[in-house]
Amino acid sequence: MFRRRGVEIKTPEQISHMRSAGLVVASTLRLVRAESRPGVTTAELDVFAEAHIRDSGATPSFQGYHGFPASICVSVNDEIVHGIPRDRVLRDGDIVSVDCGAIVAGWHADAALSFVLGEPRHDIAALLAVCEDAMWAGVAAVLPGGRVTDVSAAVESVVRSRGDLGIVEDYVGHGIGSQLHQPPSVPNRGRPGKGPRLVEGIALAVEPMLTLGSPETRVLADDWTVVTADGTPAAHFEHTVTVTERGPWVLTELDGGLARLAELGVAYGGEPVSADS
Ligand code: MG
Ligand code: MG
Repeated sequence: MFRRRGVEIKTPEQISHMRSAGLVVASTLRLVRAESRPGVTTAELDVFAEAHIRDSGATPSFQGYHGFPASICVSVNDEIVHGIPRDRVLRDGDIVSVDCGAIVAGWHADAALSFVLGEPRHDIAALLAVCEDAMWAGVAAVLPGGRVTDVSAAVESVVRSRGDLGIVEDYVGHGIGSQLHQPPSVPNRGRPGKGPRLVEGIALAVEPMLTLGSPETRVLADDWTVVTADGTPAAHFEHTVTVTERGPWVLTELDGGLARLAELGVAYGGEPVSADS
């Protein structure tokens, strides 16, 4: 069902398909991280990811999306998003940003994370920590009765309180459901209280992208890879989150966001999770 401004409201059954897709995304990201080490190519990570997604009974959202030639995006160092897996060999100290989407029964989930191979430089460790914390602040703002830019304001507030980092504005979060990308846009900065209302059955991909320098971007000659215009390192974290009458439910986190939302003092809106997840 679509509301005004093209916002798709999912039924509980549709959300449960998105949860299934989200669990595949979560386990794929965990696998890719475990397989990432110096000497591995980003193309090899894509092979692991595609096999795992398909073995799990899902389809990669990104494969063929506007012609994208792989199942995951792997963006390294000054690459922010949309890196195409290729023969690039990972090295000690690299920032690796992995973005993954999966489809179950026609319903999408989308998540991303950044990590460093080996011991990170102090400023890079801080960049990643702020980006992850900002994402969680955004996720925790997906509350029944709120508005979309409550998420934007929550993300920006964390970033601004933690130093001088660039918030990428050329790419933003988005609605998600029967399509990978759908309305509304979810900017990573702005004032709260604007945009569509957050109601049960809405689903958003919350995904801050931060840089150690300018937020300006450019696209490489492959027509996909987005890099920082000034060559500084970047980070990207993303979760797909829906809202129930109780609170947020993080569809792409194995525990549904239960632990992290509790730390943030926000009620968990999802289904009960088993102790082994
Ligand atoms: Mg993504
Ligand atoms: Mg996304």
